[in-house]
Amino acid sequence: MTQRSGVRVHKIRAAVLRNKGGPLKIESLELEGPCEDEVLVRIVATGICHTDIDYCDDWDAAAKPVVLGHEGAGVVEEVGRGVKGVKRGDHVVLSFQSCGQCGPCRSGQPTACRRFYKANFGFGRLDGSNAFQRSGVHGHFFGQSSFATHSLATERNLVKVSRDLPLDILSPLGCSIQTGAGTVMNSLGVSKGTSIAIFGTGAVGLAAVMAARIVGANPIIGVDRNPMRLELALELGATHVIDNRHAPVVSGISDITGSGVDYVLEITGDPSMLQLAINALNPHGTVALFTGESGPDSLPGGRKAISIVEGGAVPQLFIPKLISLYQEGLFPFDRLVKFYGFSEINRAIADAKRGDTIKPVLRVSEQ
Ligand SMILES: [Zn+2]
Ligand SMILES: [Zn+2]
Repeated sequence: MTQRSGVRVHKIRAAVLRNKGGPLKIESLELEGPCEDEVLVRIVATGICHTDIDYCDDWDAAAKPVVLGHEGAGVVEEVGRGVKGVKRGDHVVLSFQSCGQCGPCRSGQPTACRRFYKANFGFGRLDGSNAFQRSGVHGHFFGQSSFATHSLATERNLVKVSRDLPLDILSPLGCSIQTGAGTVMNSLGVSKGTSIAIFGTGAVGLAAVMAARIVGANPIIGVDRNPMRLELALELGATHVIDNRHAPVVSGISDITGSGVDYVLEITGDPSMLQLAINALNPHGTVALFTGESGPDSLPGGRKAISIVEGGAVPQLFIPKLISLYQEGLFPFDRLVKFYGFSEINRAIADAKRGDTIKPVLRVSEQ
């Protein structure tokens, strides 16, 4: 770890994970930067995504304390000398990080970046340095660590947005909303008249429901154990819902379609749901898997399982598209959001875990 001499240090506040399962504690820290290709962003708001929550619960006590958060949105405060695309005062939504140099990155597929894991889960820059080193914690989660008053990002993981738009609503576009909608529109390329079932109607699943309605899929079947979410799924575009606490999933789907479905998004991560997803697929159908779970290598009848990363999205292209659809009233993802103050971060996480809140967003500073 090299200490950069002469670098400006910013005093910030950030929510630090020091114990498995939390709670997160808001602490004063020192953040270096920005480097030549980096952008210092004052965070206005940040979504909380299930990957943040899972990381808290799975955190290994031997690991360094970390700053999580990867759905930040804010205002550019300072840019490195090599940054061309944004300037101080610009409004930005932050998304996942990529290296920008490998084959997939150069051919416009950053979700297939060969250094995706290191860039997003390495808790350092790709060169191994860490802007939080003076404070003894690790950051750079998804190239942002947005549970903080300030984040360091790069041009590769920020999207410039209009100053007229509310950054607190836009923040979850950077991961969960992009993932759900992108799975339907990019990874699977769902087309008009095809059938789709969505197992798990949280933020990713409901974004997928809205996208499926936009592309004209029919039927669109939401499956969940939470009646509040199923109600919302129907309002946002699901043609049918199945409460799998009380009703069988595969025969329920067959009652609706007369056979199976062309696509299943299996978002619950539950192995028994994966088996049901496979059983519910039509021949040549596809099941989309999330959270890194791996599917079976081969399935009968031309069926296949694919692993989804961030909905196959190029954030600089896809997030503006989702914002346009939102402005046209076709993609009302703001209906998933509940706002909290930054100091309420642990309550927001608890509400999301219980399923009472679909997409918690922390308001960190004034827009
Ligand atoms: Zn790459
Ligand atoms: Zn996420």
